[in-house]
Amino acid sequence: MNWSGSKLALLRLCGWAFAEDHVRNVPRPPHPALAGGSNAHAGLARLVQLAIDDEPLDVRAIAREVTAGNAAEFADVLGVLTLAQEELAGDPPLFEPRDVIYIETRLAMQLGPYTFDGQADLVEARGKTATVSDWKTHWRPESQDAFEADVQLPRYALLLDANHPGRFERFVLRKRFVRYRGAVRELVLERHQLELVKWDLVQEIEDAERRMAAGAFEATPGDWCTICSRTDACPRVREFLEHGLDLTLDDDVAARRAAETVRAIDAHSARLKARLKVYLGSDHPTGRVRLAGGSFGFGPARHKRASVSDVVEVFEAHDRPVNQRVLRVDVDELRRSLEREPGAVRRAMQAVVEEYETADCRYRRGDGLEDEEVQEEPTTGGT
Ligand code: SF4
Repeated sequence: MNWSGSKLALLRLCGWAFAEDHVRNVPRPPHPALAGGSNAHAGLARLVQLAIDDEPLDVRAIAREVTAGNAAEFADVLGVLTLAQEELAGDPPLFEPRDVIYIETRLAMQLGPYTFDGQADLVEARGKTATVSDWKTHWRPESQDAFEADVQLPRYALLLDANHPGRFERFVLRKRFVRYRGAVRELVLERHQLELVKWDLVQEIEDAERRMAAGAFEATPGDWCTICSRTDACPRVREFLEHGLDLTLDDDVAARRAAETVRAIDAHSARLKARLKVYLGSDHPTGRVRLAGGSFGFGPARHKRASVSDVVEVFEAHDRPVNQRVLRVDVDELRRSLEREPGAVRRAMQAVVEEYETADCRYRRGDGLEDEEVQEEPTTGGT
């Protein structure tokens, strides 16, 4: 098998999901979060190419092209592209079109008997420095510690060096969280540091080969279950559906196993909720179905949001130090932080916090559905 960063990462996270993808070759069902990520990547690649060709950047046209008319996906990718377009005009810009040497290009290298390949989203070259950018569509930017612990970008640097021996002395490695303005993690690697990166990669591939030989593909639930498209077939979910959760928790081993199972079940349940949202949110006459004691369906949900630049402006206008934590614009965090600020700052900040409503699917107790035109559930048998 050819190894890549994504295959090794999947094997590290969940052996069972890896085996479905790469050993048993079971087609992977779609997952909304993965569709959003691949649309954003396709849209950004198109935007980079248009910038290189000095063509107009019509982000709506690009979003339409990559989402093929899916309204929800269009809105999502349009948000990402609009932000990217703004940052392209920023200082420093998102990238320098004249320096780009690779857009989503797969590079491969030989490591003894093994082939390793990987695809960087964007590579720029200036003199002896290569800048590798990876677009991340996560809903939360990761911490600098998590970024530095991630082996993905140093391995891209290794691939670049193998394909351009001696051309680069320094590698600037960047993750851009493309849903957030200016959310970038960056580190610099010197060429001599690649030896260690290579050693670590070979160790991991040898370990992966041993697992392949032993057929050791256990399902190991964790954070990653939220983007797994195989929750319905996952052995940990099926075990629960068929036998229930063993509630005997008398040691940490049992507690750990129960906690892992709960994560897989949560991910499975989230996928079911997403399906319900699509069903009830499309042509359904009421957007709700009856449940015992109430109903489930769309209802208004109130939120608050604030623009980062407006928040910074308020702090600066009042000559107050900017609390970096609020720049993630967690409005609850912002509210707590404001409790320590003078009244004038609190009042000015309230003016930049916008309240808005969305429709979310949720349970509503005894909500008078009897007054509405309800779509009856189908009955079986009889006439
Ligand atoms: S739900 Fe989690 S544990 Fe189950 S297959 Fe997917 S990633 Fe693995």
